[in-house]
Amino acid sequence: RRDNYLILGMSLLVVLGFLFVLVNIRKEIKLAALKSEFVSNVSHEIRTPLALISMYAETLLLKRVKTEQKKEEYLLTIQQESIRLTDIVNRILNFSRLEKNRLAYTFETVDLNKLVPHILTSLQAHLHSGQVDCRFSSHTEPATVLADTEAVKDMLVNLIDNAIKYGADHDKKIEVRLLRKSKQIWVEVEDNGIGISAKNQRYVFDQFYRVTEGDLAHKAKGSGLGLNLVKRMMKAHGGSVAVRSKPGEGSTFILKFPMKK
Ligand code: ADP
Repeated sequence: RRDNYLILGMSLLVVLGFLFVLVNIRKEIKLAALKSEFVSNVSHEIRTPLALISMYAETLLLKRVKTEQKKEEYLLTIQQESIRLTDIVNRILNFSRLEKNRLAYTFETVDLNKLVPHILTSLQAHLHSGQVDCRFSSHTEPATVLADTEAVKDMLVNLIDNAIKYGADHDKKIEVRLLRKSKQIWVEVEDNGIGISAKNQRYVFDQFYRVTEGDLAHKAKGSGLGLNLVKRMMKAHGGSVAVRSKPGEGSTFILKFPMKK
């Protein structure tokens, strides 16, 4: 009888072990598929600005552009597309550094009531080109946290970029709010865009994950790295990131910082 239990126990262990291996293999296969999709997405993201730069430069060199105004327009496009390229490359570099845990943070006492509006002002041109109405409000004083200024900027740029990309077709609105929730300071970024289904909300912070259903999400380019980067950065800050969303109505991403004691 004891032998029977032993055999039963052992078989159960073997089956569990087998299931464990199976689940892991499935995870690896899924990650490999996401990675290869990432490479093709990034190649696509890089190719577009590169093509534009070379096309506009060539047209300028061939002296086909007659008016000064047009020339300026072309040069401006070249400049903007170079900035976009730099952004993409920086994001990939940041990510591979993060993967190796080599991203160095410099934590200092930061007043989010000052830093967040400052970052939003520096993004004015970006917001303008995305045709968004962006509002800021603070409902907490003080809003002091220990943070790396550059990382906070990276995270906000990521969230705002997404709010523009996955935003409403017309009348894009972004609301950035500072709140205090018990011992945390929350930075909320709310958009009135396409939203995210409850099922997908669970995965959007995963590496390389992109929502593929629906038209708009499909059209927007991306690498599926942004939110994962935000998640890792918030973890390094001893905080976390969360999302609330209703498909068709909009999404709110929340950066939760521990309040500085
Ligand atoms: P991507 O480079 O694809 O934008 P992210 O990691 O930033 O990568 O986002 C992952 C996915 O989450 C996106 O592909 C998109 O489907 C979804 N998503 C992110 N932000 C929003 C948002 N504000 N509204 C709707 N969907 C969003």
